[in-house]
Amino acid sequence: MIQRQKILITGRVQGVGFRPAVYRIAQALGLTGFVYNDTKGVTIELQGQEEGIAEFLARLQSQDKPPLADLKTCTVTELPAVAGEDKFIIKTSDAEGSALSQVTADIATCNDCLAELFAKENFRYGYPFINCTNCGPRYSIVKTIPYDRPNTTMSAFNMCDKCAAQYTDVADRRFHAQPVACGTCGPKIWLTNSKGKTIQTGTEDTIVEAARLLRAGKIVAIKGIGGFHLAVDALNDRAVKRLRQRKKRDHKPFAVMTDSIERIKKYAIVSESAERLLKSPQAPIVLLPRKEDSAIAPSVAECVDTLGFMLCYAPLHYLLFAQGLEVLVMTSGNVSDEPLICKNQIALERLGCIADAFLMHDREIYRQVDDSVIHFIDDKPVPLRRARGYVPTPIFMEINSLKDIFAAGADMKNTFCFVKQNQLICSEHIGDLEDAEVYHHYIDSIEHLRKLFEVEPKVVVCDLHPGYLSTQYAFSITDLKVIQVQHHWAHIASVLVEHGLSGPVIGIECDGTGYGTDGAIWGCECMIASLEKFERFGHLAYYDLAGADKASKEAVRPLLSLLKKSFGKDFQPSHFDWFLERIEDEPNNKSQIANRKSQIILEQLDKGINCVKTSSLGRVFDAVAAMLGLGSYNHFDAQLPMALEAIAADGIDEYYDYEFIKEAGEPMQLDLSMMFRQLVDDIENEWDASILSAKFHNTLCIALLAMAKQARESTKLDTVALSGGVFCNRYLTNRLIQQLRENGFRVLFNREIPSNDGGLSIGQAAIAAYLTSCDV
Ligand SMILES: [Zn+2]
Ligand SMILES: [Zn+2]
Repeated sequence: MIQRQKILITGRVQGVGFRPAVYRIAQALGLTGFVYNDTKGVTIELQGQEEGIAEFLARLQSQDKPPLADLKTCTVTELPAVAGEDKFIIKTSDAEGSALSQVTADIATCNDCLAELFAKENFRYGYPFINCTNCGPRYSIVKTIPYDRPNTTMSAFNMCDKCAAQYTDVADRRFHAQPVACGTCGPKIWLTNSKGKTIQTGTEDTIVEAARLLRAGKIVAIKGIGGFHLAVDALNDRAVKRLRQRKKRDHKPFAVMTDSIERIKKYAIVSESAERLLKSPQAPIVLLPRKEDSAIAPSVAECVDTLGFMLCYAPLHYLLFAQGLEVLVMTSGNVSDEPLICKNQIALERLGCIADAFLMHDREIYRQVDDSVIHFIDDKPVPLRRARGYVPTPIFMEINSLKDIFAAGADMKNTFCFVKQNQLICSEHIGDLEDAEVYHHYIDSIEHLRKLFEVEPKVVVCDLHPGYLSTQYAFSITDLKVIQVQHHWAHIASVLVEHGLSGPVIGIECDGTGYGTDGAIWGCECMIASLEKFERFGHLAYYDLAGADKASKEAVRPLLSLLKKSFGKDFQPSHFDWFLERIEDEPNNKSQIANRKSQIILEQLDKGINCVKTSSLGRVFDAVAAMLGLGSYNHFDAQLPMALEAIAADGIDEYYDYEFIKEAGEPMQLDLSMMFRQLVDDIENEWDASILSAKFHNTLCIALLAMAKQARESTKLDTVALSGGVFCNRYLTNRLIQQLRENGFRVLFNREIPSNDGGLSIGQAAIAAYLTSCDV
């Protein structure tokens, strides 16, 4: 019997070749009807035999599903059959209301394209820009909407007849693949020296020569999908050190790339879920436990026990590795903390003093997009940096915002976010706004993303910190009232919205710094939080931090303050013979200077000069790392905390003592003075630092668990949401999650966005969306 059904599909179904796939299956099964995109997803009306429709649904959800599609819901309703319909068609979206989003993320080379790349008989054999509907650049090449070839940087290239035939054939894998190209009609590669003089042309010769330079230990700047990488042989320690020195990046770990999982397994431990992630269309950098006998040059990643590996994700990468390369350092092509470079001329100007050669191409990158970085918490992938492969894919909310919203984010690890209806459209990782170029990039990026998604913000939301550049920017763009959201509340809100909740929950934030409602710098908080409001339930007891901005780099500042708090007013660093030797490795800081400096800081603390009160947990990590002799200066964000985590011994359950201070009408305070006194004893008894690190982490877990229990007792809530930058620490987070679960809590943590400040804009946006929709 002939039936007609209306099928509504939501999820990631636009811009992923979904409608052509629907068309192909309907054609094959002799079904009639139509398909179109609308604001909710994809709508299909399908007519034919009952079995045909059933098979259609089965195939659409399994073997014929486009690789990039992700079906969330599929709702089917019966309709009366339509007489005289004789074919299946793809309707344009416009006729049925505007579609959700047309621009998708940049996607790693798919297996079909990879097979063609190395198939001699294929006309794209060895072509470094092969791509199809299921792979290739998207977000990084779009200038404006609609997402059509003339609006991308591919407009510079006219398709040859062969490419055009595929592009216009609905049955072809390259149907409407905007960047489709071949060796005859598409972009080309060439090699230049560090001054920009062309030293090699021709695809094959260029790749052979670039690979030869890399094998010889040279630094080659390689233009990729989202920008330039600086590449060097990762097994050659001298070459890696030269890159470090030239890049002025003394300590931060470098990411590495290779072309197969088997090769990665030679150097790192790859779990099944890590393997899936490495091979995923997003192809992120995945932090993996490093094998002890790994041949990767030590200078690739010092002071950490992980390696950040990614698989090749552009055809050009595969062609290079096919020349017999083993593992390459592939670090962002920029100078220190400036934005990633994506233009040929700027690369030559800025990176000419770093790279020995440039592997160039003429497909313009319109938007620079960094590689994404993912690690595992509770055996689940969690981003540390959300960028290429993930952006601009929206995150969906349960609530529907009545107004478009702009959320400005934080100043460190900035991302910003737009709200449109039920979508959170979060930008790629922008960086630290205090760098002037990053700030300009921030402003440009806001306008670009706003146009791509046709957002007209009527509500602006930002952090509470009056000194944040993002806050000042938010106030500068509107005459309307700006919603200011406390930093840690936004962190918890980001967890809530990701899980489709509005709260209240018990929120635990472990963080570096965030401006508090009392003007203090918060950073270790327990709050009862919903999307509507929050109440501070407890926090780390305040300590004074001298020297404002310097305090986040120089561990001696929190260390002196915390020791003084623990040992009393008369504390002197000279009481401890380990003290000065452990804080003298700051730049240009010899021990006499260290001693004099300590005295100045102590005097500042005594007199309260240039001091702020803080409950920052990040600074406690800095202090403990310095006590354990792991260094006393953060050359990059969280260097000392990462070093402290890396040495924590497994199998230790001991912890130090702590106490809670409770004053009437005030939030409870966690005091770590006893821990510091016991830690000093352990140091003087020359206990192994790895054991002390574990005991320190364990103390925080047990104390935070105790605080959560108190919160549960007083509120009857039993869901805990964890967020904040310190929860990038795997030892702490995994242990705390386990202990909370053992004690009957339901535990939520960030899954799709970072728990560090890179996720803050999402939380701000969620709160603003909730407050606006509910008109609270
Ligand atoms: Zn492909
Ligand atoms: Zn062509």
